[in-house]
Amino acid sequence: MREIMSILGGLKGEKLGICQCHEHLMLRKGEGYYINPDLCMDDVKKSATETEGYRRAGGRTLIDAQPVGCCRMEEGLCEIAERSGVQILASTGFHKRAFYPRGHWLFQKTERELQDVFETEIFQGMYIDCDGQFSGKQTKARAGVVKLALEDGDSFRAGKALFTAAISAAVHGERSLLVHTEPESPVMEFLTFAEKLGMEPGRVALCHMDRTKADKTLHLEVVKRGTFLEYDTIGRFKYHDNEREAELIQEITDRGFGERLLLSLDTTAARMKAYNKEAIGLDYILAEFIPFMEQRGMKRSVIMKMLTDNSRRYLEA
Ligand SMILES: [Zn+2]
Repeated sequence: MREIMSILGGLKGEKLGICQCHEHLMLRKGEGYYINPDLCMDDVKKSATETEGYRRAGGRTLIDAQPVGCCRMEEGLCEIAERSGVQILASTGFHKRAFYPRGHWLFQKTERELQDVFETEIFQGMYIDCDGQFSGKQTKARAGVVKLALEDGDSFRAGKALFTAAISAAVHGERSLLVHTEPESPVMEFLTFAEKLGMEPGRVALCHMDRTKADKTLHLEVVKRGTFLEYDTIGRFKYHDNEREAELIQEITDRGFGERLLLSLDTTAARMKAYNKEAIGLDYILAEFIPFMEQRGMKRSVIMKMLTDNSRRYLEA
């Protein structure tokens, strides 16, 4: 059993409860905002209200997937956790290049220095407000997972220092990996690379493959390896409807790999009710998607296990 670290301190596995493993609760205005204005949720009150709604629906824990140096709001997250009573795990690591201004410190540091930054965030506390410059100031809140963005094969091979540093920090700090994927991401090459650095396959979650990779055999290869798939294209109708999402979940489950699925929403301001009245809301899986899956014939207990036992195994095993 490994330690589960929330921003307010260590957490016993049995206290984890329902946990959506890839959300964004707070985000400062930055490069992401200029690409998509929905990538700004900087109002603590609103984010806390949204998180309280998740708790009322039965949610107990959330992972915030915004890493250091790209508009993460570590102090805001602590405030939300205190106000809402929802346990929040924060991320260190790195996101897509497009979310950083040119010349950002993250891309200037050596592999050793980067590993040091990530490990400091895991063992001691997250750095405060270091988007533009490296602040060096810390909170007491520690990072609970390591996030990284796997873009295309070229950027993966060219960015080996960053990948090596993040994966090594996760291995050393006994943290699980959350991996952003895209249609061009070389996921199997990445998994082999991570395993060579000592990362256990069962502590890796490949995110968004339900919308980035249409080839189902690839999904099956991943779960057969013992790695988790984090599906979050739920209620994201610009990609596909819930029927399509349900089919995919059903298929992986029917093949006997339901225990390798994690479910989440990958929220932005556009999908939080407190920021947008038309939004589906952070409680959407619990309030609407589970009943929808039940209507289609899936047992409630099977989906609940994905949100509880699977999340726990991913973080703790
Ligand atoms: Zn995300």
